[in-house]
Amino acid sequence: MEGFPLCRASFARPSYSASFPAASNLASKATMRSRSKTNTPSSRDQNTTTRSRAREQRPSKKTRSQRSRTGAKVPCNETFPIDTVIERLRAAAPTWNAPVVTLMAKQNRSPLHVLLGCLLSLRTKDETTAQAVERLFALGETPETLARVPLKTLEKAIYPVGFYRTKARRIREICRLLLEQHGGQVPSQLEALLELPGVGRKTANLVVAKGFGLPAICVDTHVHRITNRWGYLRTRTPVETEFALRKCLPEEYWIEINDLLVALGQTICKPISPRCSACPVHEFCARRGVHRSR
Ligand code: SF4
Repeated sequence: MEGFPLCRASFARPSYSASFPAASNLASKATMRSRSKTNTPSSRDQNTTTRSRAREQRPSKKTRSQRSRTGAKVPCNETFPIDTVIERLRAAAPTWNAPVVTLMAKQNRSPLHVLLGCLLSLRTKDETTAQAVERLFALGETPETLARVPLKTLEKAIYPVGFYRTKARRIREICRLLLEQHGGQVPSQLEALLELPGVGRKTANLVVAKGFGLPAICVDTHVHRITNRWGYLRTRTPVETEFALRKCLPEEYWIEINDLLVALGQTICKPISPRCSACPVHEFCARRGVHRSR
């Protein structure tokens, strides 16, 4: 049935094809246009319909408004099914590679391990960090013992982590400040941690969350990238993401969201060409900013 209208139109203008080939081509094109407008849908129409259906199932970019129903500006999309997404990630994450700092925290490491481990992990591969942390804590387990270790010995212990000379100096400085200002203990308050040299919001939040088990959101590049890809947030920097999540994310997920999204980001939702076909939260994701995926 699909070919019938085309055949009928061709038969209606036999003389064009005999004496005016160019006109015949025009007639054929006109016939094709007519068919797509008035008759059974062409494959192109069907593709368009399929794409439309897919768009309907996925949260539309236009409906992912950052305004609540009352019109008040909110830092996140309140319609995003965060509970379901976290549930899916919890179920899938055990099959992925856990990030090294989380591994250390899971092994009941002290806040000092989390603090110095995170410091060493910056711009360094996970495996390298894990071995450097072992060598570092073999020299001493407390700020007091580590503060007495000569700088060259510290450098040698943590080599080849990135910027090992700078990091060795920071470790000594941090240990000295912990002794002088905090009685040899790592503080559990974010503000106090942020005053330590080389400690940014990511490290400080990780220490609060993983070292002390207190509510804090550690936002790194994975958390920032993925929450924006989801269409849950619309933020420009990791700091903006942290503050948006503090307002929107239920507190029960604060500590674990970093684990889940680092694992997702390292294995599936990679910065370039994410593996969306293997993603457990594919149907909830707006894939904002994703131009190429697998
Ligand atoms: S892998 Fe794809 S579908 Fe999954 S969170 Fe990343 S962008 Fe979204």
